[in-house]
Amino acid sequence: MLRRIRCSNAAPQALGRALDNSSGRRNIKSLTVEHELHKVEPKAKMPQVIADPGYKYKEGMVYHGFQCERIEHNSDFGLVSCSLRHIGTGTEFWYIDRNDTNNVFSINFRTPPVDSTGVFHVLEHLALCGSKTFPVRDPFFKMLNRSVATNMNALTGADLTVYIFSSRNEVDFRNIQRIYLDSVFRPNLLYLDFLQEGWRLEHKDLHNRNSELMIKGIVYNEMKGTFSENSRVFRKSLMGNLLPKLAYRNVAGGDPPEIPNLTHAALIEFHRKYYHPSNARIFCYGSFDLMQTLSFVNREYLMHNDFKDTYYSRIPLHPRWSQPRHVHIPCRMNNMGASIDRQNQIGVALLMCDRIDVQECFELNVLTELLIRGPNAAFFKGLIEPNFSGGFNKNTGYYFTSRDTYFAVGLQDLRAEDFAKFNELFQQTVQKTIQEGFEPQHIESVLHKLELSVKHQSADVGSVLLYNSMTLWNHGGDVVANLRVSEMIGKLRNSLKENKNYFQEKVAKYFLNNPHKLTVTMTPDELYDENLKRAERQLIVKKVKDLNADDLEAVFQNGIKLEASQKAKENTDVLPCLSLKDVQQPLKFPQVTDQLIQDVPTQLCKVPTNEITYLNCLFNITGLSPEDAMLVPLFCNVIKNIGTIKHSFREFDKLVLSRSAGFDFKVKVVEDVKDGKSYRTGLLMTTYALDKNVPNMFALCDELLLNFRLEDTDRLKMLIESYVSKLSLGIAFSGHLYAMLGSAALVSDAAKLKSLLSGVDHIDFMKKYVQQNSTEQIRDRLRNIGSKAFSKSNMRVAINSSEAFQPTALEHYENFLKNLPTLENMSVKRELQLFEPSCRHYVMNIPVNYCAKSFFAVPYLHEDHPVLRVLAKLVSARYLMPVVREQNGAYGTGARIGYDGLFNFYSYRDPHSTKTLDVFDKTYEWLLAINEKLNQQMLFEAKLGVLQLVDWPTAPGEIGLDYFILGVSYEEYCKYRSRVLSVTVDDLRTVIEKYFKEEPNHIGKFILGPRREELDGNQRLCKYILNVTKYF
Ligand SMILES: [Zn+2]
Repeated sequence: MLRRIRCSNAAPQALGRALDNSSGRRNIKSLTVEHELHKVEPKAKMPQVIADPGYKYKEGMVYHGFQCERIEHNSDFGLVSCSLRHIGTGTEFWYIDRNDTNNVFSINFRTPPVDSTGVFHVLEHLALCGSKTFPVRDPFFKMLNRSVATNMNALTGADLTVYIFSSRNEVDFRNIQRIYLDSVFRPNLLYLDFLQEGWRLEHKDLHNRNSELMIKGIVYNEMKGTFSENSRVFRKSLMGNLLPKLAYRNVAGGDPPEIPNLTHAALIEFHRKYYHPSNARIFCYGSFDLMQTLSFVNREYLMHNDFKDTYYSRIPLHPRWSQPRHVHIPCRMNNMGASIDRQNQIGVALLMCDRIDVQECFELNVLTELLIRGPNAAFFKGLIEPNFSGGFNKNTGYYFTSRDTYFAVGLQDLRAEDFAKFNELFQQTVQKTIQEGFEPQHIESVLHKLELSVKHQSADVGSVLLYNSMTLWNHGGDVVANLRVSEMIGKLRNSLKENKNYFQEKVAKYFLNNPHKLTVTMTPDELYDENLKRAERQLIVKKVKDLNADDLEAVFQNGIKLEASQKAKENTDVLPCLSLKDVQQPLKFPQVTDQLIQDVPTQLCKVPTNEITYLNCLFNITGLSPEDAMLVPLFCNVIKNIGTIKHSFREFDKLVLSRSAGFDFKVKVVEDVKDGKSYRTGLLMTTYALDKNVPNMFALCDELLLNFRLEDTDRLKMLIESYVSKLSLGIAFSGHLYAMLGSAALVSDAAKLKSLLSGVDHIDFMKKYVQQNSTEQIRDRLRNIGSKAFSKSNMRVAINSSEAFQPTALEHYENFLKNLPTLENMSVKRELQLFEPSCRHYVMNIPVNYCAKSFFAVPYLHEDHPVLRVLAKLVSARYLMPVVREQNGAYGTGARIGYDGLFNFYSYRDPHSTKTLDVFDKTYEWLLAINEKLNQQMLFEAKLGVLQLVDWPTAPGEIGLDYFILGVSYEEYCKYRSRVLSVTVDDLRTVIEKYFKEEPNHIGKFILGPRREELDGNQRLCKYILNVTKYF
């Protein structure tokens, strides 16, 4: 997993968004007056539920230079919110006191970009390249190996920059806190780091003055990668053209042609101005002592600073248009997508309300759910069901990323001739909605979903709370009011009761009578890439023309200096590090018990679930024919959306969402963790519901599993087309995962099956299959899957519920089982086959590569597995990061060994392909070279890197699922963990000789990237003959 994927557009998506709302509309005029009086930004004060008078902190008191302004208890999330403000600098500090050990800390700055050079994005990178107290290049990555943080990230949004981390270990928490604070307030911002992270001119061959000059740089390449996704090109245009008078017209992450206009001097100036404590907001969440944090922040960073008026970073509301507008843009052709004449997109965006209007944003979010999600939504009926597109595009939803929020809805994969049809249908849908209104049961299902999402606990509650409020906070909104979800729901219910046309009036106001409306159309251009390349070449020529002989010499020397600094040994001793005693104890989990109930193996877990019961049913489908197995992912997508004998798909959707969290189906291929010689394929169904709805939840399971109905072929056809249309989305974003699936697929048949079910092979297969088979033929196949899979005899079940509710849950579970049929047992597992070595180049029309190499080592419970896992961390941190990322310019890279026993190398957004595979191949040489230098500290850091993953936080609903799905028990987890901690340098040396000295017998290499002639036919790629993938 890439631990630091920085987003240039930080949008809390999906369910999280449901909570991202605000209220407390402030009067802008009174704001200025208040501002004069207090010299700080005011904060709306709302009527509130005051905390228990005995609470440890008091409003009005001063703690280490911070005045406590407001304390409020919130029962929705079981927390106390304390708003503080630093007296000297005006820095806002939001503390959430909650009985949760996964503590979170973040520092946010308001950073509206003034151009598209990506200055704040480069600054975000550069701040983490060493500071006064920690003068170490990239302490961020170095700390990944000296800590057990559960999250470390930094991101640049449309108008803010966020540095966030979380940890459950207090020593660790204090360590990282020191680094983060020093990084943002006292960074070194060195010129060489600017060249590395931002952009630079550099000779293709560093040591040859005559070789051609290129533009390099991590952010430069990262943004090229970002805009290789058409959906990002679309969003850039949508936001920029909807808000053209504000900072949002600029690309916060940086537009590649503009990035080379950024200078180091400008960056330093921006830091001085925007990273001033008065422009900072600090967030702290969890159970660790607040006073220590306040005292440290005040003493080290704030008390010697003055207040600075931050008017320059404020963002006003956008002036409203009197006329709608339209823009048309070109995009890249997607060679994995639909046919070229269908690769167009269209979208409409409408400006909504002020971000700081908490209640209004909340209600517009509910309205968006009603309009867009599921088969009962008006836009779904109006735009998707006529079936002339590949479904909603990725820029559909309600967006909180700017001061003015906006709604957007769009379609992908349609013909340009149908643009007019979209516009017509959009208008018709709006009018029809205003006339007909919304069904009460539909509204109820959306409100229920919200209520359930408040009760449902994720593993990182603190981060979710911040993400849901950070843009609101950034504009000075009332984040505390934003936590009162029950109250907002209550207010909305009242409004709906008092006014039957409440939502219709909102639709009329925001959708019908709103001239601030932008339509964006996008059409693929065969010359798109060529044009970009030409523009880049021209840019280089222009840059070079401006250089005199001295400048050119400096370019050459900088390249050499940068290389030398990348290769120089650093003194990382200044960085804090945990010690062995800090991490000795394994985490405690509630025990799971196994029972046989009506012959069904059932795992039970008693855990505080906040009045929710979680259900997982795993059906063994190993015995399905390969042809059927290939369609299981489609089956997973179709079954929950097609309706049942009793209920049409529309009714079923309403029922499900008003009584449960909905159904999720996934296919699982699981290798044996003990001997690694066999594997199983499973179909996992997951759902959960409030305890009071558990009888309904099981009734819905029965209905779905026994009575799913595929007769509606129109509906089925649409679901299939939409499924296929969305398959290739996101490949560029998760390209390293696709590349690893691809390389692993060349190693074993189980891994090949995974690629056929979820990798690039799945996309190819599905596109072909759908072309060659009629909807009726596909329907029969899908029906076959359900009738073979859903039986008691093929099923195992896991139920997580509170101790008090478990007996009731079991009663309803037994009733559910009684109705399920008993069929013939499927074969339990398949023998694992390993393949001969091979390589593959998968051509995709993107400007960067994703490379991977896999070989078969040992299964999870083999005693060498923990040693190899530690070694993988060591190789990632000490070899791949310095070479593949820092020297060769890939955005990310790493090595890891999975549960399946496959040892993988990968690179992410990589300018190179074969060069990176060569680096992977030279791992043994590197290991030999450092053999003598292997020491305890290196080893310990690698172990911590592994512990981060082994001790990854688990949400209450997911406790015990590793055991359930993979078969790894708590005892085995503890044993594995202690083996990780006890690995010695000699153990490492043994596995290096055993697994790396000789080329392994089963190995695969994979490049996902643009066409390169020298790779055609794979002569250059490797010495093996291409293994052509066959679909069984
Ligand atoms: Zn970045």
